[in-house]
Amino acid sequence: MDMWLKEGQIADAAMTYKIKETLVTKKTEFQDLAIVDTYEFGRMLVLDGIIQTTVRDEHVYHEMISHIPLFTHPNPKKVLVVGGGDGGAIREVLKHPSVEKAVLCEIDGDVVTECKKFLPEISCALEDPRCEVFIGDGIKYVHEHKNEFDVIIVDSTDPFGAAEGLFGGSFYKEIYECLTEDGIFIAQTETPFYLPDVVKRVYDDANAVFPVTRLFMAAIPTYPSGFWSFTVGSKKHDPKAVDLSNTIDIATKYYTKELHKACFVLPKFVEDIIR
Ligand code: SAM
Repeated sequence: MDMWLKEGQIADAAMTYKIKETLVTKKTEFQDLAIVDTYEFGRMLVLDGIIQTTVRDEHVYHEMISHIPLFTHPNPKKVLVVGGGDGGAIREVLKHPSVEKAVLCEIDGDVVTECKKFLPEISCALEDPRCEVFIGDGIKYVHEHKNEFDVIIVDSTDPFGAAEGLFGGSFYKEIYECLTEDGIFIAQTETPFYLPDVVKRVYDDANAVFPVTRLFMAAIPTYPSGFWSFTVGSKKHDPKAVDLSNTIDIATKYYTKELHKACFVLPKFVEDIIR
């Protein structure tokens, strides 16, 4: 019998994926967790029926959410990833030799445990000595750390449940305080195709707090519409205008210096959403 996963983020539209094997399903303290192996995208982490990451296309999301802020900051030494329990963002962050410490603050310890077990190619850098894994609420962690991180990456689930407070003005004010004087923050900010109101609200909230706010897009096949937005808030450095001519080369599959500039050129309907 064929088994199919129906991705569940958008109420009235869905993509489906044929499952080869179900590796784990469990109810954690925070969410329903599953890791399944699929024919087209390989292993994938699914939380509350929503695809978080897959072995085949994870590089797009993890490279763009990490390298855009890390190549914009002139000397990122201390980085915080809020959420991101699969470890993909940490793996990319630690490709930057300037980084001395990367803290992962993930609310759900089961995500970290299961990803270490079943998604080693994504979670591999969680064992790096420069990485500290802290299991707890990112909202509380950010509130309790002031003027500490050069880059903060909010690699969260969608704005419901435990992640709801990770989107919005009051959290962005806390992030501002948690950053060093020329710090940069980035968050995954959903799809302008299905969720224009969320994209606009988050952009406006970040723009009310940060002197420089930019939105860029990336093509992620397993996220609804395949067309995903990220919002950058920066105290000083502009990710769109940064000079990348002297940055080091690192191994990537999606990010390039040219794409760093090009991704900020937005389609008209997306410009209209954030205008
Ligand atoms: N790349 C993914 C996406 O956009 O679908 C996000 C992946 S990552 C697995 C998201 C993580 O955020 C989840 O493991 C979830 O447990 C974590 N999370 C949700 N709310 C959180 C909070 N308040 N503090 C820390 N982590 C949180």
